[in-house]
Amino acid sequence: MSRVERGRGAGRAMWGGGRRRVAVGVSAAGALALAAACAGGPPAGESVLRTLAATVSVSPSGDAGGAGEDGRIPDGVTLSPLDDRAAAVRNLDPALLAALREAAGAAKAQGIEMSVTSGWRGTGYQQRLLDRAVVTYGSLEQARRFVNTPEKSAHVSGKAVDVGPTSADYWLIQHGAAYGLCQVYGNEIWHFELRTTPGGTCPAMLPDAAG
Ligand SMILES: [Zn+2]
Repeated sequence: MSRVERGRGAGRAMWGGGRRRVAVGVSAAGALALAAACAGGPPAGESVLRTLAATVSVSPSGDAGGAGEDGRIPDGVTLSPLDDRAAAVRNLDPALLAALREAAGAAKAQGIEMSVTSGWRGTGYQQRLLDRAVVTYGSLEQARRFVNTPEKSAHVSGKAVDVGPTSADYWLIQHGAAYGLCQVYGNEIWHFELRTTPGGTCPAMLPDAAG
């Protein structure tokens, strides 16, 4: 039974209407989370996300801003590549994490602050992202352009990291190969993997995660 159907009960129209509005809100937040989690989406949505990310700060101590042990990073929260408290960072492939930290240091020296918006993900979390993308994009085929299956996702194996903000993405696109870091998908400027030797040349990009 859908929320709308539940809301049709006599005397519950007001409550039902409220629930519908809440549901819309959750859906929008879900879309933002997908954008954060390497799910792409329209430029306008990404713009909103970037704004949100810029206005929410990570808790300076304790739980790494609420980042979960399944690799989930709450909406609008970004993590330092140095933050070992978060499973999303801590469980990255050691070679990728070392390259990312080296690149982040070089970027910082040039005034560019680099954050991790998504890193390692547990299989359950990756499946939830895919499920949400299917709802957002209407089919598994379309969703797969933005979110991989747990079996195929480089995030699940710890070999992919999503970086923000946009200034850091462009810095890494320009300088990442010096550290072996390459943009992999044409539709995801934030997604990087170790795809070449340091100082080498990045391979040609795939159009999207399904490509
Ligand atoms: Zn990614």
